[in-house]
Amino acid sequence: MDDKKKFWSGRIRDAAPYVPGEQPKDKKYVKLNTNENPYPPSPKVAEAVAAVARGDLRLYPDPECADLRRAIGEFYGLTPDHVFVGNGSDEVLAFSFLAFTDSETPAVFPDVTYSFYPVYGEFFAAPCRIVPVREDFTIPLEELQKDDGTVVLTNPNAPTGICLGLTDVRRILEANPHHVVILDEAYIDFGGESAMKLLPEYENLLVVQTFSKSRSLAGLRVGYALGSPGLIAALTAVKDSVNSYTLDRLALAAARASVEDRDYFYDTCAAIAKTREKTAEKLKSLGFTVLPSKANFVFAAHETAPGKVLFRALRDRGVLVRYFDKPRIDNFLRITIGTDGEMEILLKTLADILEDLK
Ligand SMILES: *Cc1c(COP(=O)(O)O)cnc(C)c1O
Repeated sequence: MDDKKKFWSGRIRDAAPYVPGEQPKDKKYVKLNTNENPYPPSPKVAEAVAAVARGDLRLYPDPECADLRRAIGEFYGLTPDHVFVGNGSDEVLAFSFLAFTDSETPAVFPDVTYSFYPVYGEFFAAPCRIVPVREDFTIPLEELQKDDGTVVLTNPNAPTGICLGLTDVRRILEANPHHVVILDEAYIDFGGESAMKLLPEYENLLVVQTFSKSRSLAGLRVGYALGSPGLIAALTAVKDSVNSYTLDRLALAAARASVEDRDYFYDTCAAIAKTREKTAEKLKSLGFTVLPSKANFVFAAHETAPGKVLFRALRDRGVLVRYFDKPRIDNFLRITIGTDGEMEILLKTLADILEDLK
């Protein structure tokens, strides 16, 4: 055994942790690799943080996160018992695996999706049934209609950006009456239709969302789940078995200020969707295939230049995108939608690289 690991539990010794996209410190990049929002959060957020910082950080935060859950509930027209909040949606998803999968209840998800799911499955000892996506990266829905485990779907999917409509989501919910269907809607605000509308009809539906992407607060670490009170109570039981105070006072106040500033939120999401459509068109004119995206990123492969070559050349020239060295998707770049100015730099740099490769 590796000497470094001699005191490690078997659980962690055998783990294969998730590797987040890089946050480089060597120089300043045009950073289009981790789907952060290019716009700052609502100005109300800084005001709220300043007010709390002057207040009582000596005291523990509210373990029930009541004010924030009420504010999120009001945004969606739900009572607080339909809302769970956590330290980023990664935590909410991890708790969901603990709450809704076990050795008898596998997790069911596509092969091309958020790469944290297999990590959770492995770490929490839940078997995984992995559904291969089709050649065009769409998901064969019949494979998610077997009522044989907890379905976990990123919608719009990552890293493809392809979004299922509510008719398909409804079919999946109907087909799994004995299992929870988790929809990870990290990117839904950029143009998809949230399954949150279906909550009154399906007690097996859990919608997970985050403040990291559409609310420009990746640095704050706040995510949430919307679902029937029974599902929310299960997540709360997990949380209170691990850490009662997952959200600090600054995060609680900042997230609440963000949800309450509706106009700012709608405006920035619309700006990103507009930039995405323009960027996709221009990428196509450079010879890229661009999958139809409803997210704040596009997934694109060039007709001749290999993905890995483009990724490295972009990096050398100060533009960072995400590249996955994995079967089926290793020719693609996942490019976060930044400001119009950032996308112009990306497109100009790509055009230069393609010219050099000729
Ligand atoms: C970014 C992302 C998350 C995690 O978001 P945090 O709230 O920052 O933890 C969850 N799911 C998917 C698919 C994501 O891309």
